[in-house]
Amino acid sequence: MSILKVARIAHPVLRSPAKPVPKEAFRDRLFQKLIDDMRGTMYEYEGVGLAAPQVHEGLRLAVIEVPGSDERSRAEVPFFVLVNPVVTPLGDERENGWEGCLSIPDLRGLVPRLKRLKLDALDRDGKPYSLEAQDFFARVVQHESDHLDGNVYIDRMADMRSLTFIKEFEDHVHEDEE
Ligand SMILES: [Zn+2]
Repeated sequence: MSILKVARIAHPVLRSPAKPVPKEAFRDRLFQKLIDDMRGTMYEYEGVGLAAPQVHEGLRLAVIEVPGSDERSRAEVPFFVLVNPVVTPLGDERENGWEGCLSIPDLRGLVPRLKRLKLDALDRDGKPYSLEAQDFFARVVQHESDHLDGNVYIDRMADMRSLTFIKEFEDHVHEDEE
């Protein structure tokens, strides 16, 4: 397993719509290795999700894992793979929450996101699945899906004044200040 280099904003790969993963990719050893490498890279940088464009691969592929936490809105989500994901809103309720991104290091901002959604995607073997996500899990799915369309979280911020460095966030802002 390798730790991959993470693209930072202004790299064109982060602003280009990613290509659907073709059927034949699932049996490709390199595609499976890419997924393992993305998993290792996400752990290395302590992310809760990573999209393929963030490691310079313009494919509709992402990985997510949310470790258990004391924060009330952060339910644990075991590792899983999203290939060619489609997000459908469930209701129109939105909620503000803090986000950061490995491609925009050291920063955080408040982003309004759908509270509940349905996700349809393929797993790493090409098998379709469907699930419902809410709260922080739904937020991570929206954040990673955005990367596949060339969007990043700061594009979605309703008020840029909440943008903060992580150090200053820890000194001056509390998680429940929304
Ligand atoms: Zn991101």
